Amino acid sequence: MHWADVVASRVGDDQVISTAISPSGEIHVGNMREVLTGEMVFRAVRRAGKNARFYYEADDMDPLRKVPAGIDPSFSKYIGVPLYKTPSPDGKHTSWSNQFIDPFVETLDLVGAKPEFLYTHELYEKGLFNDLIRVALEKRKLIGEILKEVSGKEIQGDYFPLNVICEKCGRIDKTMVESYEWPDVSYRCNACSYEGNRDARNGASKLPWRVEWPAKWVILGVTIEPFGKDHAAAGGSYDTGKRIAKEVFGVEPPFPVVYEWIHLKGMGAMHSSKGILIRAIDMVKMVPPEVLRFFIAKNNPERHLEIDTGRGLISLVNEYDQYERIYFGKEDASDREKKEDFRRMYELSQREGIPSSMPVQVPYNHIINLVQIKKNKDEIVQALKWSGYDLSGDHSSLDGRIRAARFWLENFAPPEFITKIADTPPKIDVDEIQKSFLTQLLDRFTENMTPDDVNRLIHDACADTLKDHKKCFTLLYNIFLGQDTGPRVGFLLTSLDRDFVRNRLSNYTK
Ligand SMILES: [Zn+2]
Repeated sequence: MHWADVVASRVGDDQVISTAISPSGEIHVGNMREVLTGEMVFRAVRRAGKNARFYYEADDMDPLRKVPAGIDPSFSKYIGVPLYKTPSPDGKHTSWSNQFIDPFVETLDLVGAKPEFLYTHELYEKGLFNDLIRVALEKRKLIGEILKEVSGKEIQGDYFPLNVICEKCGRIDKTMVESYEWPDVSYRCNACSYEGNRDARNGASKLPWRVEWPAKWVILGVTIEPFGKDHAAAGGSYDTGKRIAKEVFGVEPPFPVVYEWIHLKGMGAMHSSKGILIRAIDMVKMVPPEVLRFFIAKNNPERHLEIDTGRGLISLVNEYDQYERIYFGKEDASDREKKEDFRRMYELSQREGIPSSMPVQVPYNHIINLVQIKKNKDEIVQALKWSGYDLSGDHSSLDGRIRAARFWLENFAPPEFITKIADTPPKIDVDEIQKSFLTQLLDRFTENMTPDDVNRLIHDACADTLKDHKKCFTLLYNIFLGQDTGPRVGFLLTSLDRDFVRNRLSNYTK
């Protein structure tokens, strides 16, 4: 059974799935795993005939802890201020948190995830946390004991689990509550030494993370939550959250779906603060959306993943295409018992509904070459027809792939994938044998040849003349691209205008 269906089979009839992020820096593709894991569970629960809601919360009441690499260090003056109250570093968004959340909302749309979006500071401002803050203050001894027992955290003196926003300096991370008479709390700010008394309700204060998380479970009625392995560690925030949920707030904790990190090939785990990351929005632009979903759907959340933005990306698209053929019965699954899982992985990879018939497939590396030698989609479609592709079926996925290939080539592709036709015939001294190879090619190159026909022709002409395939291909790459290597020659030559190919070859046969 697929992992999302396993979760769906283990829960009751009414489910609330919650995912969240502290939007302190670039939202990377590792964060994408959380929201897609939640979204797939959401779909699986609904498919099982149960009710489900799906939330995404921007935890923008969190303080700014560190100015990430790449952002003006002068922003360090805002450290400790809630993210939604901190200005956006690029000046184009309403707050620090929104600078990172806004493109992520676009990303979610591109991958077909439609959670109900919530801003945690608004939940505070609307007063939804008020009662829970009061309970947390009343039961502060119990909370202190739980934190100490479970996490080993030493609690000093009379512990008040509440962070007030300092009315003088605006920081939330350095204030200590000293006493309270609900709803007023007396606090001292260790950043600016201010001492004050304020109404803690409606956004003036925030629960610390280990108490806030279970409080959100209460407010939203969360029953399933995917979270990273850091929270799942022994003594971590899920362990303390479970007990605080039951013993302090009197609710059951959600069903946990723990996921592993996504590493960037050759660079380790992604970290916003260190600048080691692929932004989620870039990932979703460089990979066709269904393929990015496939990457998450096909791997159990507990499996560590590695993103390769080079050659590996093409392999991933090819693998997706293979699953598509298996789904539509055009290819056998190597492991028949897993066939149902493969089908589910394909279904969960779709942004919207499932195609009614097998979409037209074009090898992705061929698309990558075509977008570089053709100006627009019409020309690409024409070249595909020349190469013998039947485009009479559903080829709607072609648009997404053309877009993704272009973005990848412009931003992430390794140099060996760049194909540029030399504008003028490169200067090459050809000897008599090379000339006769090219003459044979020119004489026999016809209008209706497929890539395979062209390959055969090259092999035959080569066998009669140069007798060394590598030398033959290198010569052709030099003539057309002005370099020693390139994409498969059959595809390359059939993608080009036939008269252009003949003209170019004829420069070297006289
Ligand atoms: Zn202060």
